[in-house]
Amino acid sequence: MLKIFNTAKNKKIDFIPINKDEVTMYVCGPTVYDYIHIGNARPIIVFDVLYRLLSSIYPSVKYVRNITDIDDKINSKALQNNETIFELTKRTENQFIKDYKDLNAIKPDIEPRATEHIDEMIEMIQQLIENKNAYEAKKHVLFRVKSWDKYGKFANKSYDEQEHGARVEVADYKQDPADFVLWKPSSDDEPSWDSPWGKGRPGWHIECSAMVKKHLGENFDIHGGGLDLIFPHHQNEIAQSCCANKSDKFANYWMHNGFLMSEGQKMSKSLGNFYTINELLNEFSGNAIRLVLLSTHYRKPLDFTKSKLIEAENLINKLSDFINKNKNEKQDENIDEFKNALCDDLNTPLAISIMWKYQKENQIGKLLKSIELLGFDIKNSDKSQIPQEIKELAEKRNQAKIEKNFAESDKIRNKIKQLGYEIKDTPNGYEINKI
Ligand code: AMP
Ligand code: ZN
Repeated sequence: MLKIFNTAKNKKIDFIPINKDEVTMYVCGPTVYDYIHIGNARPIIVFDVLYRLLSSIYPSVKYVRNITDIDDKINSKALQNNETIFELTKRTENQFIKDYKDLNAIKPDIEPRATEHIDEMIEMIQQLIENKNAYEAKKHVLFRVKSWDKYGKFANKSYDEQEHGARVEVADYKQDPADFVLWKPSSDDEPSWDSPWGKGRPGWHIECSAMVKKHLGENFDIHGGGLDLIFPHHQNEIAQSCCANKSDKFANYWMHNGFLMSEGQKMSKSLGNFYTINELLNEFSGNAIRLVLLSTHYRKPLDFTKSKLIEAENLINKLSDFINKNKNEKQDENIDEFKNALCDDLNTPLAISIMWKYQKENQIGKLLKSIELLGFDIKNSDKSQIPQEIKELAEKRNQAKIEKNFAESDKIRNKIKQLGYEIKDTPNGYEINKI
């Protein structure tokens, strides 16, 4: 039985799908204004493992992860880069798709873009106005927070805290400081669409509510995202959807991953303390990044260091060699122990330790199945994939040798050895091999 920690209930509970023939899940995807960093990759990988697990239990899973391609951060970044908004969002989206493929994350069934759902957003906003949950003011449309008495319950926020969450300077068109934007006017250089309230663009929260409704309906199983999205984003999604649909149901289970931290602080674009997936993939394999992300339980903070990636790369290389040597052994397929760990609110650290146990016990069939459920692509960890770091060290060693600095070249050779590789000098230059 799968158990999930449901943020809405603040406890771990049994997962019972609305329709056991097709489980439905929605995850908030990236805002495509810049390349994703390894913190953004955490929800991608965590929910990819959930998707794989659900697919192994239920006949079908419908997975929707949106692309936020309307956002003020996009507008200012395009201006800064001197490119059009479309050029920026297309380029960033393409990189995002490449990144998650390199991390071996399965393509969601639907990847809706906000720009392709404007009609649905306008329709939902009209419904909210009709239901008296929203009002128009100075070409803006705002959600009237006090019109819904359950507002704040999901995020556990009192009215004071909601107000506090609003910007310090409260816009004069707001009836209440906590009210939030559903639609806003655009200036000439900002993207805009025609609407009953004039040319403008949607607010961020309504984007997800409209895309959820279009692709999964009013009530669906699982909604995921990072911890920072609980308030205001997810609270606002719930308010908009429940009020527009006149329903008290939206997502039945809410799952939130904890933050990936860098030296005690949340990794984020604004702090500048980040590594993009694109740059990490020059040095490390997608498998190593995946192993680091899954080695900590998804709800806990994860302290990220590059040394963890080096260590993970070593483990993946050893695993890959082991598989290549033992592929044809007799197979035993029952992996209940492993699956039970994942079914306990996605306990990936425990599942990984069971995977290593299968390896130690030479249980190849079980090992292969557990590798697949965790989404490692061992075919891609063959010898052709020498990490960039090793290649650079090998080049340094070569230079040292040319300069006849043999003490240095031996030192580097030893370091390379510690990282699981060996250098062989041949008449045609040097070769790097996994040990
Ligand atoms: P954004 O593009 O900023 O909206 O973020 C995309 C996704 O990454 C959201 O689900 C965020 O919650 C998540 N996220 C952003 N920073 C981190 C972090 N440091 N650790 C874990 N998840 C994060
Ligand atoms: Zn969202």
